[in-house]
Amino acid sequence: MRNLFFCALLFACSSGSLEKQDKLYIEMLDVGQGLSFLIRGKNCNSLYDTGTPSSGIDTMLQNRGIKTLCSVILSHRHNDHTGGVPTLVEMAKNGELHINRVLFGNDAAQEPYMNLLKEAGIATQEISRGDTIADFLPWSARILFPVQTSSLTENAASIAMRISDSENSFLFTGDLEAEQEKSILELEPLLSAVALQAGHHGSKTSSSWDFLAQIRPKMAFISAGKNNSYGHPHPETLAKLRLIVQDTTQIFRSDRDGSVEMEWVYGVGMWR
Ligand SMILES: [Zn+2]
Repeated sequence: MRNLFFCALLFACSSGSLEKQDKLYIEMLDVGQGLSFLIRGKNCNSLYDTGTPSSGIDTMLQNRGIKTLCSVILSHRHNDHTGGVPTLVEMAKNGELHINRVLFGNDAAQEPYMNLLKEAGIATQEISRGDTIADFLPWSARILFPVQTSSLTENAASIAMRISDSENSFLFTGDLEAEQEKSILELEPLLSAVALQAGHHGSKTSSSWDFLAQIRPKMAFISAGKNNSYGHPHPETLAKLRLIVQDTTQIFRSDRDGSVEMEWVYGVGMWR
C-alpha cells in the first residue's frame, strides 16, 4: 500500500489536489469480541454489523458526529454482530439518529430485534446474492452470499458484501466459515479483493487456504476482543494471512490496534 500512497502523492502533484476526488472511509470499530464496520461516503454513512450490547456503538457514532445511517447491514443473527441494534433503536427513538433502513439476510429474519425495528418504524429489507446497495456511489456494493433460496443459518448465513471502485475492493464476510468460502468461490471463481475482513474474528475454521490464495488480499482486518476466551485470532490463521498479505503492517487487529480507519480515494487506492 505504500506504493499506492506514493501514487496518491504523485497524483496530487500532477493534478493539483486529491480534495476533489471521491473518498470513502471504512473503519473497523473496536467493539471488543464482536464486529462492526462504519462506512462513511459522500452522501451516506452505513454500518456493517453493530457489535455487542456493551460495545458502546452509541458513543462511537456520537464521537464521530454520525446522525444519519442510510443503512445498517446485519451479517447474521448472533449477538456479537446485532447486539448494538437495541441501542441504535433507542437513539432513533430519542431523535439522536436517523436510520433509513436495516438490511439483513434470510436467517436474521427470525431474529428478535426485527420486532423492535418494526415498532420503531425503521424500514427493514431482506438482501441476498445479486442485490446491490447504492449508498456508496460511485463505489458499487454487491451482495455475494448467501443466495436467496439459502437455508443456511447462523455463522454460515453471514452476508458477504464486496465494495469496489474501478481498481480496488473491500470484501466483508461476517462469520462465514471455510465451507461457505468454498461456496462463494464456486459462484465466483475469479473473485479477488485488496482488503479482506477475515471471517469469524480470525477463527481457525475460516480463512481457508484456498480462499485466501484466490482472494489475494493486500490488507486483512480482524475484529476480536483483547484476550478473548475463544483464542481469536487463531495463530494458524495469522500465519496464513502473513504468507498471503506479506506486509505484516497491513494486517490490522482490533484487539491490538483498536479502531482502524482506511481512507479510500476513488480509482487511486486505500491506506490507513
Ligand atoms: Zn461473530
